[in-house]
Order: sequence, then structure tokens, then C-alpha cells
Amino acid sequence: MIAILKPHVSDDRLNEIVHHIEKKGLQAHVSKGTDTTVIGIIGKFESSLAEQLRSMKDVENVVRISKSYKLASRDFHPANTIINIKGVEIGGDELVIMGGPCAVETPEQIDLIASIVKKAGAQVLRGGAYKPRTGPYAFQGIGEEGLKWMKDAGEKYNLLTITEVMTPETVDLVCEYADILQIGTRNMQNFELLRKVGKTQTPVLLKRGFSATYDEWLNAAEYILAGGNPNVMLCERGIRTFESYTRNTLDLSAIPVLKHLTHLPVISDPSHGTGRRELVVPMTKASVGAGCDGLIIEMHNDPDNSMTGDGVQSLFPDQFADLLKDLEKLAPLLGKTLDTNKISKQLLTV
Ligand code: PEP
Ligand code: MN
Repeated sequence: MIAILKPHVSDDRLNEIVHHIEKKGLQAHVSKGTDTTVIGIIGKFESSLAEQLRSMKDVENVVRISKSYKLASRDFHPANTIINIKGVEIGGDELVIMGGPCAVETPEQIDLIASIVKKAGAQVLRGGAYKPRTGPYAFQGIGEEGLKWMKDAGEKYNLLTITEVMTPETVDLVCEYADILQIGTRNMQNFELLRKVGKTQTPVLLKRGFSATYDEWLNAAEYILAGGNPNVMLCERGIRTFESYTRNTLDLSAIPVLKHLTHLPVISDPSHGTGRRELVVPMTKASVGAGCDGLIIEMHNDPDNSMTGDGVQSLFPDQFADLLKDLEKLAPLLGKTLDTNKISKQLLTV
């Protein structure tokens, strides 16, 4: 249920209304817009509560939300969520680019790629130390050592870092090293993992399960939000369809649909979404056209020798840098900004 307040209600009055709701053992989540303030109410309540709240001074209306997810819903929180990580805002005006290899391989490799990512003007270094591989005999990632190399490279080049976490047991460890936790497609409905990352405050990029509906995906996000971590972004990374030319089918509609259904930032992954290098550049541009807040793109200095099979979808360093230059021109036409020169010189604030 949400209570929509009348325009320009004072903070004191807002606090009184929140207190009234909390006294009934319910949770009140306040979302302040420019004109209106909305209070999202969660918990078991008597049906008379809606009437009671509606009759209160300063309450404009009370509406029941029938969706199974609440905190993730735009009804609950009309304003966009902006996640600020060391001065980089995700979900705001700036287009955020996360670039790097599928997997961290050696300290030299991640250092070199980080330098390329920074020079190109991207804000975040990606790279997996724990890799969820389809087969048990494939390279499973470097593990904790790889997290250290990522952190070192991130600090050296002033980049945020994002890396995948696969088990509840390793969440605390990964939080020590990374700025953003990635939950991969295969783990989107690993509810114990979602609950565990929900107990941290570390930002989470939740990839779409390759057969998940929007509703299932938003409910997965709800697990993290309900645990107390508000810093969730959603990543479209392609779904399984009958088409086999591409590795997955990047569902571009997901971007505007999510922008409508939720206030959380939306990221696109054209690398796993297509599985083909030549499609990454056009699908990146299409994603920006569809309204994404950022992109996560695989790039490798030597894709032919990458340790996972994802070299075929990894951009070469020059392609990555050229793509960012194009995005810099494209973004302002589509309501975003990107200043690669500024970012390549920028220091993180913490
Ligand atoms: C990855 O980002 O390298 C990855 C494994 O992604 P996904 O979970 O989308 O397959
Ligand atoms: Mn990959």
C-alpha cells in the first residue's frame, strides 16, 4: 500500500505520519519527489488502515499495490534511484561504462586492461575471479588472489570494480575487495545468495536469469531490497530463445519496460546478450537508445587467448575506446552525458 501526501508537506508532519504507521508495527519507506512525497507501507495491516490514513490531514490518497514486489516498484518509489559509489553516480545523468575481461587471469593482464579502461574514459573495471562455468572441467576463475589483483588495479587507475559473487559464504570476502557485487544469470534465483547480499550495503548488479520474466527478476531484486540493501541495479544480459545464431537474445524491450516498472538503474550487457564481437558495438548503441543507465562490456587485450570462451565476444582495446568516443556524441541526444576526457583524468572521491 502507498500513501501519497499532499504537495509540500513539512518534514515534521511527514515524520508524524511515518511514526503513526510504524507504531502499528509496519515499515514505512519514504520517497520524496520534487512535488509529491510517497510513503510505501509494508507489513500485515487491517483493511481499515487505508481508510484511516486517507482521512488524515496532509494525505492525498492511499492506494493498494497488487504487485508481488513492492520496494522495487516505481509505485512505491516514483523517483529514480541513484547509487553513488565514491562519486560515480549510477542511475543519474551520466552514462556509466563498465569494461574489462570476462575473467581476471594474471596481475599483468588486469593491470594492462585497467589502464586501457581508464584511458578510454570508462568508470568501472569488470572481471570475474569466481566464474560460473557451464561445465565442471572448464576454468573456474582464480579465486581470492584474483580479487586482490582487481582491487590493486582499481586503486592504481582510480576505477570502481565489479566482480561476480557466487555463494553466500564468499559474500563478505568479495565485499572486502570489490565496489560492486555481480550476481550472474545462473544465480538470479539463488535466494540464499540474494538474502546474504541484502544484508550488506555494497551495491549489487543483478543480472537477469536467462529464462526469467520481468516479474521474477523484480522479485529477485525485492529479496535484496527487503534485506535492507537499497543499492540494486538490474542488468539485461540476453535471454534464451529459439535463435541460435546469437548466444542469447538481448531483450532491448527490457530496458524501457524496467524503466517503467521500477526506479532501479538499468544496465545492458551486449557482450553476453549477443556472444558475437561484431554485434557488441551496434547493440551497445541500441541499448543507449532504449534508455539504459549504463553498460557492462567485455574487452580483452588478447581475446584469442582469453582463458574463458568469451574472447569471441570481447572487444579489442581500440574498438572499446572508439565505442566510448561514439557514445560521448550519442549520449546527449538521448538524455545522458559522458565526458571521457574528464573521466580519464578523474580521481575517485574516497
Ligand atoms: C559474465 O559477466 O562474465 C557472466 C558470466 O555473465 P552472465 O552471468 O550474464 O552469463
Ligand atoms: Mn563472460
